[in-house]
Amino acid sequence: MGNHFSADALGLDIYMTNSSTDVFCDVIALAGSSMTRTVWQQHLVLHFCDLERFRAGISGFDLAELPWTQDHQAEQDFFLVLLDRANRRTGWEKLHYTPSIDYNLGAFIQMLTRFRPTPTISSDFGNWTSAPKPYLLDRCLRHKVFRGEFGCRLCDTWTQPSDAPFVWEVTSTYTVDGTRNTEIIDRRIWQIPEGLIPRIFAIAGNPERRAVGISIEPQHLEAVSAIIQTPLDPQARHWLGKAMD
Ligand SMILES: [Zn+2]
Repeated sequence: MGNHFSADALGLDIYMTNSSTDVFCDVIALAGSSMTRTVWQQHLVLHFCDLERFRAGISGFDLAELPWTQDHQAEQDFFLVLLDRANRRTGWEKLHYTPSIDYNLGAFIQMLTRFRPTPTISSDFGNWTSAPKPYLLDRCLRHKVFRGEFGCRLCDTWTQPSDAPFVWEVTSTYTVDGTRNTEIIDRRIWQIPEGLIPRIFAIAGNPERRAVGISIEPQHLEAVSAIIQTPLDPQARHWLGKAMD
């Protein structure tokens, strides 16, 4: 299983396995999260930060599907600079593995260079001329990449190598009316020393065998707050989970 990235108008198609798609997205996230100046640029980098996180095998796209605007020349130039930075290994020192994706990056750069964008009437990617929600642009303190919709992809224990060093952290998420399905308005993260974890599990419960964390229920907030010496707001949802260091 994998993904196809294409420029149908040119008859070009690049196939990436799911794991090479992950690598491709990791290096673009690292190269791009600190260089966005416009709303469109933010959306482009965010797209790769969130790509392939929970939908292995259907994440590819055709270049014509991107929401190109009247500024498509500048947008294409930015995309090429972004890929060039990734190709020059920008931020790779923060990776937990050594990528071998030169072929994919080089082929993608060639495809994008030859592509001639025109303004897109309507795109499944949404409207890239209005600002993304601010919390999407929060950057991971350790890896400096956008957290996006699903959190930092380099902290994700599902997409990163299992032998990468990990840390425990509490993520507190604030939503508009405190329920699960509404807009996130703020997110705070505290790193939790390994030695405190057994004490928290003793109160809040052990995670399932394959789970990467537990949610801290309201009745346990006070006791857990005391252990980690950080007040946990009852208005927020709290998740104690593993992340990559
Ligand atoms: Zn991270």
